[in-house]
Order: sequence, then structure tokens, then C-alpha cells
Amino acid sequence: MSGENSSADGVQRVWDVVVVGAGPAGASAAYAAAVAGRRVLLLEKAELPRYKTCGGGIIGPSRDALPPGFELPFKDRVHAVTFAHNGRFTRTRRSQQMLFGLINRPEFDQQLVEHAQKAGAELRTGVTVQRVEQHGSAVPDRRTVAVVLQDGETVLARAVVGADGSASRIGAHVGVKMDQVDLGLEAEIPVPDTVAEDWKGRVLIDWGPLPGSYGWVFPKGDTLTVGVISRRGEGAATKRYLEDFIARLGLAGFEPSVSSGHLTRCRAEDSPLSRGRVLVCGDAAGLLEPWTREGISFALRSGRLAGEWAVRIAEAHDAVDTRRQALNYAFAVKAGLGVEMSVGKRLLAAFERRPGLFHAALTGFRPAWKAFRDITSGASSLGEMVRSRPLAQRTIAFLDRGHGADVSDADEDLVDS
Ligand SMILES: Cc1cc2nc3c(=O)[nH]c(=O)nc-3n(C[C@H](O)[C@H](O)[C@H](O)COP(=O)(O)OP(=O)(O)OC[C@H]3O[C@@H](n4cnc5c(N)ncnc54)[C@H](O)[C@@H]3O)c2cc1C
Repeated sequence: MSGENSSADGVQRVWDVVVVGAGPAGASAAYAAAVAGRRVLLLEKAELPRYKTCGGGIIGPSRDALPPGFELPFKDRVHAVTFAHNGRFTRTRRSQQMLFGLINRPEFDQQLVEHAQKAGAELRTGVTVQRVEQHGSAVPDRRTVAVVLQDGETVLARAVVGADGSASRIGAHVGVKMDQVDLGLEAEIPVPDTVAEDWKGRVLIDWGPLPGSYGWVFPKGDTLTVGVISRRGEGAATKRYLEDFIARLGLAGFEPSVSSGHLTRCRAEDSPLSRGRVLVCGDAAGLLEPWTREGISFALRSGRLAGEWAVRIAEAHDAVDTRRQALNYAFAVKAGLGVEMSVGKRLLAAFERRPGLFHAALTGFRPAWKAFRDITSGASSLGEMVRSRPLAQRTIAFLDRGHGADVSDADEDLVDS
């Protein structure tokens, strides 16, 4: 779909808010700004629906952050979790209450974009944003940002939201700093009815052989999403883990319909979330739960906040007001998602050192299973848990000693661009 970039008198149109990237973060930002009555343009480099390497696990906070009237296109509802420690000590825990839901990203993301469009946002697909400029000849005045597309076209905006994923160009403009990079590898495996029936309503979580790694099987009707995630820099070992995992599950005989890889990145605590009239959210800002690498709820929640604050930045008349609104956005993100990330970081550091202890707790210690259940279903959050439950505080303090492994590179060939 293409948008009109100039008005009838030939003067170039200035959008209130331009959002770059139409994943959950961008669609939420576009929705929030459009619902506030602003002129919003959503730019996406792919044609929709597009594939995204992702388990598609929708936990309570993701469900709660959706626009009103959004019907989740669940492929399955999870009521049981089988935990394993590198294929051993397997135990299944069940819950009468639904723990979380499973969706296919192309369908889910497309539906979110449609909600933003219904709220009034305009969508252009098949356009890659090359860079943004806040000074220089392309920028008519101090209240405007120029968004430069790959074909040389320039789009003007009063505020820009960068939601262009984990290899974000807008994040580079803002100067986002990451302190954790992980490699996720996944296979979508179509299976016969008998196999699908065995997995219905149940996921597998396998604590892996590499520090901080784990694998999963997420059933989606006739297809199983099987994946593993580990620190970047262990590309060959991560690939081997996925192959062994698939073989061990007896799934090696079924041809995957998609095999893909993607990096996830978590922001450093002092990383910026804005620069001038440009905000970043979702993966582009490195907002992701460091232990589980759950990112959809972070994308939806930070996207909504970015859209709301982009509206205020669009209205700001000077640099001081712009700065004030950008700081308010950063404050809102840090007060909620930032707290969850710092608890997640501590959990990951502890999990890297003692995965067996985590496995034993989740499979044999009722409060740990209850915490897992409450967080996935949305009854509580990591932040709330640590704030309100002395036992959780003591457990994390007990586990919280030492640091995680260092990051190195070398896995680029396993990753989609
Ligand atoms: C293997 C794996 C499994 C995961 N499983 C889960 C899970 O089960 N549950 C969960 O909650 N999270 C999961 N995550 C994390 C989750 O996928 C991400 O956190 C989430 O997709 C972030 O959404 P986003 O909108 O920020 O970015 P994205 O979904 O990556 O969207 C970014 C969009 O920007 C577009 N774009 C990029 N560059 C440009 C450009 N220059 N111009 C225009 N458009 C551009 C892209 O095409 C894309 O559509 C997983 C991640 C991985 C790697």
C-alpha cells in the first residue's frame, strides 16, 4: 500500500508521527498515536504478513497490552509444561488454568497492524528506512525529523518511533547500547495428527547444555515450533543443540517448513531510549526479558508508551519540551519494564551457574511452580514478585552471586537479515 507524501498544493506533508517497523512494537506505537487522533505513518520493509523467528508464546502481560477488541488468534492454549534438564529428569506439571497461549507471528502481527490502520494509521510496506536526520539540508526546521528511505525518498515527521527490531538502524541513531546478545534458532516442523495430538495443550522446556541456554517445543496444531536460544558466540554448539534436541524428541524424520535464526539483544541499564524527536521501543531499544528472552509483551508495552509520548513530542515547540517528554518516556519504560529486566538479568546470571537448581525448584518446589504459573498467566510479574514476596526476594538474593559469561561474535551466518 502506498501513501501520499505531499499535499494538493505540492508542499511536502509533515506527519505527526512516523513509526519505523510494523512488528508488535511498531503496530502498538502506531495504534496509540492514531487513537489519539494524530496523523501517523507506519513504514515496514517487508510485505505483510511476514515471517518472524519467534516461539509465539503469549503470556498474560502480552494479552493485557493488546488494543481493545483484539481477538488473539491462538493456535493452542497451554495447560501443561514438561520440564527437562538437557533431555533428562523429565517432569510434567499441569494447571487447570491456562498458562499462556501460542500464536503464529505472521497472522498475529498482521492483525495488530490492521488495528492500527482501523485507528487511522496509514501503512506503507516494502519500504526500507535507511536513516533519520534531525539536522541538515533534508530537515526544513527544528521541529521536524527527516526519515530517508532506501530509494532516496524523504518522509517528514514531528516525531519518529524506531521499532525496527533487533538490528535497528534507528537504535543506532539513538545510540542504544546492548549488554546481552543471544542467538535463537528455530524450526517449524509439520507433524502427523498422532504426533500433534500428543503435544496438544502442552509445551516442553529443556534447560540446555550451554550456559544460559534452553530449548522449547511449542505446538501449533499440525506444526511444532521447536527452538533453542543461547549466548551469541556459540553458533556451532547452538546449532548442534537444536539438532540433538530435535533428534532426541523423535522429530528428525519430519522436514521443517521453515528453519531460521535471529539475534535477540538486551539493553544496558544506562542505554538511551531517545535522541531529540526520535524514540525507540521493543527489540530496537533492547527491551526484552533477559532470562526467557520473552519480548512480545515488552514490544507491545513499550510500543504503546512510545506512541503516547511521540504524540507529546510531536506537539513540543522547543528542545526543552521535547527533552522533557522524551525523559518522561524513558522514566515510564524504566519504572515498569526496566525493573522486570533487572530481575530477569539476575535470574539469568543465577540460572547460568545453576540450571539444575532451577530445574529442581520448578519441578519439585511448589512456590517456584506457582511463581512460574502466576507470571505466565499474568497474575503477577517478575517485578511485582520481587517487590511483594519476601520468599522471592530471599531466593533471588541467595542465587544472586557472580556474573554471567562474556559475549563474543561469529554467528552472523546463522541469522536472518
Ligand atoms: C528464537 C526466538 C524465539 C522467541 N520467542 C518468543 C516468544 O515465544 N514469546 C515472546 O514474547 N517473545 C519471543 N521472542 C522475542 C520476540 O520475537 C521479539 O522480542 C519481538 O518480535 C519484538 O518485536 P518488535 O516489534 O520490537 O520487533 P520485530 O518483531 O522484529 O519487528 C520489527 C519490524 O521492523 C521491520 N524493519 C526492520 N528494519 C526496518 C527498516 N530499516 N525499515 C523498515 N522496516 C524495518 C522488520 O521487517 C520487522 O517487521 C523470541 C525471539 C527469538 C529470536
